[in-house]
Order: sequence, then structure tokens, then C-alpha cells
Amino acid sequence: MTNCIFCKIIDGSIPSAKIYEDEYVYAFMDIMPLTKGHTLIIPKSHKENVYDLSEEEASNLFKVVPKIATVLKDTFGPVGMNLLNNNGAPAGQSVFHFHLHFIPRYDQTDGLKLTWNTK
Ligand code: 5GP
Ligand code: ZN
Repeated sequence: MTNCIFCKIIDGSIPSAKIYEDEYVYAFMDIMPLTKGHTLIIPKSHKENVYDLSEEEASNLFKVVPKIATVLKDTFGPVGMNLLNNNGAPAGQSVFHFHLHFIPRYDQTDGLKLTWNTK
């Protein structure tokens, strides 16, 4: 899609810090990281959100999730990791090309209030 930031990242017309790439997916550092190592993974085909992903696209993307999470864990040394996906503007989606966030967590000092656990 011509007007999509993430499609431009895939075709190289917008630079990015690549973490991983194969025939189907591309992973890169988020430009405004919520924590150190904040990374996004996207399908190479332009799909707006989770409802548009085929089973094959979802499978090709999620099968590399453990590998990327492990690389981030080994590289940055977080003590936890949030995997997050926003679908639709009311849910916080701002780039309308499907993406899954990897957000490494560094105990209470990372300053991020992102939890459903109030304990
Ligand atoms: P969303 O709010 O749609 O779930 O997340 C979009 C993410 O894309 C945000 O975390 C934002 O910082 C990131 N982002 C937006 N534009 C760019 C860009 O040009 N390059 C990179 N690397 N990340 C971007
Ligand atoms: Zn796109």
C-alpha cells in the first residue's frame, strides 16, 4: 500500500533498525520505544488488522515470535515482556498495518503502567 508507513519500512524507503526478516515478516525497533528494546513485527503483506490476517499469515508471523522474544531477552536483559496488539483506533491502533509489539519489562523502574494485575 503506497501510503502506509510500515509498507515503506518493508520496501526500504523509510529506514528502520531491523531485528529479523524472512520471506513473510519483518521485525524492527519501535521509533518511540516504551521501554528499551521495544520491537514490532509485521507481515510483509499489507493487512490492516487482526481481522484481515489469513491463517497462513498469522502462522508465519507467530511462529517467529518465540525466537524474537528470546533475542530481545538475551540482548536487553528484561525481567518480563509484554506482547501487545492494538486493533482499531479506539483500542490504540495508530498505524493501520497489523503489528505485534514486543515490550521488554524491567521491573517497577521501567516507568510503564501496563498491567491488568493490580497486586
Ligand atoms: P500502534 O499504536 O498502532 O499499536 O503502534 C504503532 C507503533 O508504531 C508506535 O509504537 C509507534 O512508535 C511506531 N511507529 C510509528 N511510525 C514509525 C516509524 O516510522 N518507524 C518505526 N520504527 N516505528 C514507528
Ligand atoms: Zn502497509
